[in-house]
Amino acid sequence: NNGNEPFPGEVHPTAGGGILVTKLDEVINWARSNSLWPLVFGTSCCAIEMMSTAGPKYDWSRFGFEVARATPRQADVIIIAGTIVNKMAPVLKRLYDQMADPKYVIAMGACATSGGPFFYNTYSVVKGADHVIPVDVYVAGCPPRPEALLHALITLQEKIRSGN
Ligand code: SF4
Repeated sequence: NNGNEPFPGEVHPTAGGGILVTKLDEVINWARSNSLWPLVFGTSCCAIEMMSTAGPKYDWSRFGFEVARATPRQADVIIIAGTIVNKMAPVLKRLYDQMADPKYVIAMGACATSGGPFFYNTYSVVKGADHVIPVDVYVAGCPPRPEALLHALITLQEKIRSGN
């Protein structure tokens, strides 16, 4: 899977052309999955790998993640790349609330997934983004490589297409 799934439906040949039989939900999910606008939320070291994933070598635009946005009102997937401290948690929640529906969340790296190296003996770090907002896809690593983030993005596309 390279993130470019064919248009859903079946073509029935007829004289002079063909008839496409499909389902509206599948078409909407297919279009939605191929046009996700990320809200970048890089808070620490994982953000470097996220930026690399958007750059020319890995180029997440190839998979339909075209335009990274710095405003939640123009984004429908937030990529949490880095540590979330307690003071930042209300900001993350507010940004998520301002995103357009339907919206999705990727927790990139050990910190965003579970608190990572700050899991023990910390007074300041949230032990996973899912304590603040719902998460659709988790990415392991400290930091994850760009290939891992691309895999997470494609996994999210599959989840959207499945209607879940
Ligand atoms: Fe930094 Fe590792 Fe945490 Fe990513 S998971 S923000 S690389 S400490």
